[in-house]
Amino acid sequence: AEVTRFAPSPTGHLHIGGLYTAAVARALAHQSGGVHVLRIEDTDRSRQVAGAAEEFSRLLAAFGLAPDEGGVTGAGEWGPYLQSERRDVYLSHVRELLRRDRAYPCFCDRERLARSAEEQRAGRSPIGYYGRWAPCRTLAPGEAARRIATGEPYVVRFRCPYEFPGRVRFTDRIRAAVTMRDNGNDIVLLKSSQEELPLPTYHFAHVVDDHLMRVSLVVRGEEWLSSTPVHLQLHAALGFDPPAYAHLAPLMKAEGPSRRKLSKRKDPEASVDYYLSAGYPPAAVQHYLRGLANIRLMDVPTAEALAAPVRLDGMRPSGPLLDLPKLHSLSREFIASLSPHELYGQLLAWAEEYDPELGSVLARQRGLALAAVAAGRPDGAPARKDLDRWSCFRDRYGFFFVELFGPPPAADDDRYGGLDPDLVRRIAGEFAATLAHGLTVGIDAAPTVDPAVDSAREGSGDATPEEWYGALRALAGRHGYAPDTASWRRDPERWAGPPREVANVVRVALTGATRSPDLFAVARALGRDEVLRRLTAVAG
Ligand code: GLU
Repeated sequence: AEVTRFAPSPTGHLHIGGLYTAAVARALAHQSGGVHVLRIEDTDRSRQVAGAAEEFSRLLAAFGLAPDEGGVTGAGEWGPYLQSERRDVYLSHVRELLRRDRAYPCFCDRERLARSAEEQRAGRSPIGYYGRWAPCRTLAPGEAARRIATGEPYVVRFRCPYEFPGRVRFTDRIRAAVTMRDNGNDIVLLKSSQEELPLPTYHFAHVVDDHLMRVSLVVRGEEWLSSTPVHLQLHAALGFDPPAYAHLAPLMKAEGPSRRKLSKRKDPEASVDYYLSAGYPPAAVQHYLRGLANIRLMDVPTAEALAAPVRLDGMRPSGPLLDLPKLHSLSREFIASLSPHELYGQLLAWAEEYDPELGSVLARQRGLALAAVAAGRPDGAPARKDLDRWSCFRDRYGFFFVELFGPPPAADDDRYGGLDPDLVRRIAGEFAATLAHGLTVGIDAAPTVDPAVDSAREGSGDATPEEWYGALRALAGRHGYAPDTASWRRDPERWAGPPREVANVVRVALTGATRSPDLFAVARALGRDEVLRRLTAVAG
């Protein structure tokens, strides 16, 4: 069983690359029967953002990636999980290293360090606090103590064990054996001594925490690969068994024929907020993230992808391409696989947060909303795959709701396909008259998949699609349209529809769009009064 962690620094918004790392790390823990920890690495106070733990916990939970330990609930016995609350833990480990001479106080100020760096450059030596460029490395023990006693500021540095230039070998679970040149560098472990409890650096704090939080597998971004040698040195100096490492390649973005790293500044889709406000269902996003890790998971249904293990040996060391059209298609398939009730529930939860006007309409008009959704999934036929995120709902299905529809397009609107406005008015008016006087049954009796709503409507009669389309065809015939349109010719057996131009008038009047779910289904969901109102408004 693996213990993995996600260890973001709260220096801004969560990045999609962070969500990807969290998804992979969490999956690896859970599929092995282990535990996934959220630790907030907030030791860099100059870059800190208030409320970060809450924000990360909220975002991870929103995507179904809540940790088992840590985060805002702080559940778990190895906390606190906020590094700023663990200073005394780091201090005791620093003292231990000082005692064993694996660390030493360094008094060099900024100017002295700049001068060292300058000398190193002149000597074409790799930059680092090391060797003869590290004056405090060899201070006599008494002298260091004396300077500390006088109150001179200092930091604590690690005494790097390698002879310069060193070579390091270690195993990465994705890249297998890694060999790296190690430039000697006595990194800082503890920042300025000017405070009662000075803060550790990231390198030191995370090594101590990974050990104390019994992390067995570190999954993190590739930008940390080059620091891994020093992390291994620190584990060894502290007497810890190091965890295994897996460094994930960065997410890429296509730019013309080439690829570049996704950029927080340039690409809106780099921010996790983007996915929430656009309304991609969390399950589809999770599926997509797993697909980025293991490409073959892109092509299986979401439920299957979420149940399949993530495999590190199935990952490529080059960065996966973040490809929104692929996410759209996964999301579209996922939404189409939902039952109307599930779809309504997920849509409502999204809308209440990100589109409150839509949210309140959906909450008030549950029956109509379910009927609208059902219209997109006619009996027996596969669901229309016309929603790839919740923010598209308004555009595709908003017309069902009076509050969102407004008046139907006027007779001279382009959407009527260039038909003479007088003819548009006559078609709308005559069809309204037919519905009002002759074909009065049916459109009040839309099955809504909600038994309560359906039984309340029971007994109001039921028109068949044949009657409805028959009336429309007859009307078309009266205006000189023969059933000889392309659609009629293509499939004369099955095609029961009216000529396309005439159907289009009714479609645009009822939905405002030239494409919609089946017209009969739309009319049944809208109800007779609303259908008449819209047709009459066009007829003028
Ligand atoms: N706090 C580091 C970051 O923000 C974590 C690196 C690691 O996972 O070790 O990327």
